[in-house]
Amino acid sequence: MSRNIKELINEMTLEEKAILCSGLDFWNTKAIERLGIPSIMMTDGPHGLRKQVGDTDHLGINKSVPSTCFPSAAGLACSWDKDLVNKVGGAIGEECQAENVAIVLGPGANIKRSPLCGRNFEYFSEDPFLSSKLSAQFIKGVQSQGVGTSLKHFAVNNQEYKRMSIDAVVDERTLREIYLASFEEAVKEGQPWTVMAAYNKVNGDYCSENKKLLTEVLKEEWGFDGLVVTDWGGINERDFGLAAGLDLEMPSSGGIGDNKIIEAVKEGRISEDVLDQAVERLLKIIFKAVENKQENAVYSKEEHHALAREAARESMVLLKNEDNILPINEVESIAVIGAFAKNPRYQGGGSSHINPTKLDSIYEELAKVAGDKTTLFFANGYALESDEVNEILIEEAVEAAKQAKVAVIFAGLPERYESEGFDRKHLSIPDNHKILIEAVAEVQNNVIVVLSNGAPIEMPWLDRVKGVLEGYLGGQALGGAIADLLFGHTSPSGKLAETFPKKLIHNPSYLNFPGDGETVEYREGIFVGYRHYDTRDVEPLFPFGYGLSYTSFEYSDLQVEKKQIKDDETITVTVKIKNTGSMTGKEVVQLYVRDVESTISRPEKELKGFEKVSLQPGEEKTVTFELGKRAFAYYNVKLKEWHVETGTFDLLVGTSSRNILLRDTVDVESTVTIRKLLTRNSTFGELMEHPVGAEMMKAMGQAQFDGESSLGAGMQEMIMGTTLHNAAVMSNGLFTEEMLKGILQAVNN
Ligand code: BGC
Repeated sequence: MSRNIKELINEMTLEEKAILCSGLDFWNTKAIERLGIPSIMMTDGPHGLRKQVGDTDHLGINKSVPSTCFPSAAGLACSWDKDLVNKVGGAIGEECQAENVAIVLGPGANIKRSPLCGRNFEYFSEDPFLSSKLSAQFIKGVQSQGVGTSLKHFAVNNQEYKRMSIDAVVDERTLREIYLASFEEAVKEGQPWTVMAAYNKVNGDYCSENKKLLTEVLKEEWGFDGLVVTDWGGINERDFGLAAGLDLEMPSSGGIGDNKIIEAVKEGRISEDVLDQAVERLLKIIFKAVENKQENAVYSKEEHHALAREAARESMVLLKNEDNILPINEVESIAVIGAFAKNPRYQGGGSSHINPTKLDSIYEELAKVAGDKTTLFFANGYALESDEVNEILIEEAVEAAKQAKVAVIFAGLPERYESEGFDRKHLSIPDNHKILIEAVAEVQNNVIVVLSNGAPIEMPWLDRVKGVLEGYLGGQALGGAIADLLFGHTSPSGKLAETFPKKLIHNPSYLNFPGDGETVEYREGIFVGYRHYDTRDVEPLFPFGYGLSYTSFEYSDLQVEKKQIKDDETITVTVKIKNTGSMTGKEVVQLYVRDVESTISRPEKELKGFEKVSLQPGEEKTVTFELGKRAFAYYNVKLKEWHVETGTFDLLVGTSSRNILLRDTVDVESTVTIRKLLTRNSTFGELMEHPVGAEMMKAMGQAQFDGESSLGAGMQEMIMGTTLHNAAVMSNGLFTEEMLKGILQAVNN
């Protein structure tokens, strides 16, 4: 049923066009029966489906139909596994088909600027390359099922405090290199059907009215041809939004927005052409959804639960494993401590909160995998709903720990600590979790902590425990996954997709988060996450990319195809990786690039490639990376373009941003010459960098310009720092205004 959309638009009245540009209700677009235009449903996302059939809301309050709850993005990202993220997307797409949902609202590609952002659990990473690549795979996975996605929240939505009105003030280079880059590949490679404009302002304009973001960058530069939808209720002035490139307002605003569009067109403030373009984008997506609808689609809840378990297993990160305390092999008794073991924290709060098809109890899954030979003791340790330290519960836990050979404590952040809608104020876990860990560690040497949380926490107790498994928010099958990992059925292979700082004050956004209520200034610039920790050498608790395994890997034979390239060429880099341990395992090979010498401020290193490989004991594989211009470029705000400075670049291969094992270099030559015009206020130093300028100055026969200067280095530097204009005034006729004019004419021609 392919419709001629242009013809259809010709048949529509102004009113019909305008009403199509806002929702029918909370989740559906409007149908226009007269013209055979159907309504489609879009709904949250992104870690499973939140389809509401009864009361609706955008905060996760009311019930939704059961769907598989996969690990949230913060965890899933730690898998660094593109195929897996694609598979999870595919499964969510299948569930959408079965539930008659045309578009799922996700993934979230916002950067984790501060670990405090209440919604970090919904986002992938502090690194735009990783975030964008994984978002693209999620999109491709969902859309392979004929279901659309809504890449959100575009853009610079990095905090919950005043999320609907805050003005994020970001310089252009930072915007491009960090915050937009996190969406760019997701749009170009993933080609989402829709993009959701964020609530907040960016540099003074609401995202929903931001022509630069919605039209110039998204549609014109990146070639996005889908439709732009508001975040829920995130429209300021509907007509301004339309003019800026905002196609669909969600949910319904009861005709307010539609009337504003009609008035604006009638008054000639917006041409009907602009409205037609929005309607065309909308109709294309509506009909695409209808054409791709699979009648009577079903999915297997069991298979999706198994996939959720696999995803959780691949995502959890082994942070500490002293004395190889893990895996727990054939231990006769284990104390399982912590209320989370029976009532797990497995998903985040807010609009992504879904109703799982089933939910693993961690305790029961441990009991299943542990088998008959192992006795499990259980103690709650803390009350779920309060932070208060309950001495009786602690005492029970201590008693259980004393009886067992090993104590496994389940702790982390309860839902009241982090959610959509508010930010955290600190990185602590509740007192009753902290004191529990300390009390158990007093009586038991073999303590393992399994964490459930959506974002980094401080670990003042780290030295007192032997093992730490970061479980993030593992989704409905987290219990089975934790059992698989603790008992060594699978080796952990998750790697942190964000830095865990030792203290909150070490985070680069610390002094400028969350702003003054009206604006938040991104003063740390491009130095977000490991770009800050590594460049300033601030030691983190656990670095970006870090994660342990039960087996060991050897990296060797880094090969760079060519040692010299032009910036418009692509080079292939290969590296060998071997499993040198005795267990099958997976490793994430990470490739970082460093500009060795640069005239502008650049991070110590930036991630430009990653690959997850599975290896049997003794097996070796070769991993291949392709590096193009963007691997070496920074965003040049004057050129308004990505630019590579000619020079040498280090290629660094390692197991985290802080553990580089192999390195080589490549020389990259820029194909773009930046012509710098000299002015009256240019310095002699700048003049001497210009070939013509240097010749002219040498011809003057002054020692300081021909390399023969007997002046001290300091004096020489002072002269080079003097402006031409200043010298013309101050040099007692040695350098005159006429000479200045002549030189400028010669060098700028
Ligand atoms: C959230 C979106 C969500 C929408 C619909 C908003 O509050 O910011 O991420 O998709 O609600 O529930």
